[in-house]
Amino acid sequence: MKGQLIKALAFDDQIRVFVVDATDLVKRAQEKHQTWHTATAALGRSLVATALLSANLKGDDHLLVQIKGNGPLGLISCDGDTQGRIRGYVSNPNVALELNSKGKLDVARAVGLPGSLKVSKYLADSEAFTGQVELISGELGEDFTYYMAVSEQTPSSIGLSVLVNPDESVQSAGGFMIQVLPGTSDEVIDQLETRIKSLGSLSELIDGSEAITDLLDSLVGLNNSRVISQQPVEFYCPCSKERFRKSLAVLDSNMLQQMIDEDKGAEVICQYCSATYQFSEEELKAILANQ
Ligand code: ZN
Repeated sequence: MKGQLIKALAFDDQIRVFVVDATDLVKRAQEKHQTWHTATAALGRSLVATALLSANLKGDDHLLVQIKGNGPLGLISCDGDTQGRIRGYVSNPNVALELNSKGKLDVARAVGLPGSLKVSKYLADSEAFTGQVELISGELGEDFTYYMAVSEQTPSSIGLSVLVNPDESVQSAGGFMIQVLPGTSDEVIDQLETRIKSLGSLSELIDGSEAITDLLDSLVGLNNSRVISQQPVEFYCPCSKERFRKSLAVLDSNMLQQMIDEDKGAEVICQYCSATYQFSEEELKAILANQ
């Protein structure tokens, strides 16, 4: 199972469930940014959450997630759309901290409190929406759960997981978002809470699942849900040389002249995917002449 997200209804349509296997997405992000393990876990969990939140959008909507703590990572920025096309970066990819007291990657310390979690939604048919909350743990799953409750008034349970191999590669990544729909019986809520508490390690569960529906079954029980939709999730960056040419064209002419005179060209690196684009002296001169 690689790179799939499913939306389902469970417990006789009383519960909405999103489940994602984002192994390929996080693997690509780690390779592109050469993140070290604690940074991989933090960026990976943010990418998984972005995939889950993006699945809640419609049509041409897209969203931007920004996490800024006072830890060594700096800013984590991710965006995604309804097609499951997700990308992201972290200011400092070279963060490798000692494991925490539970023997887990210390994402909370790498993110660092105090800090904020901001979600901006760009909606095709209405005004953009921005919600922001203070970080409450830095482990990110709890922070996104808190964000959903406070900013979107949608009580949710969110689990995010990234398993990193000793050689820094990503073994597995994924997560879930469970939402209780209005009118859900207390009995169902109790059953669900008990199930989630007894889940055990989410990363082992994801790593051990052959199909994404196995993960769904582990969460809500066998034959207790129906899948509404299934879609791929991938690392995707729409950057191109043409897009960067347009960004260079709006630079101050003195700055462009300086690049021509002193650097004899320019090398532009996409923050989101680390792709590199070269502009020759002649290309810069053409951009300057067209300003
Ligand atoms: Zn890019």
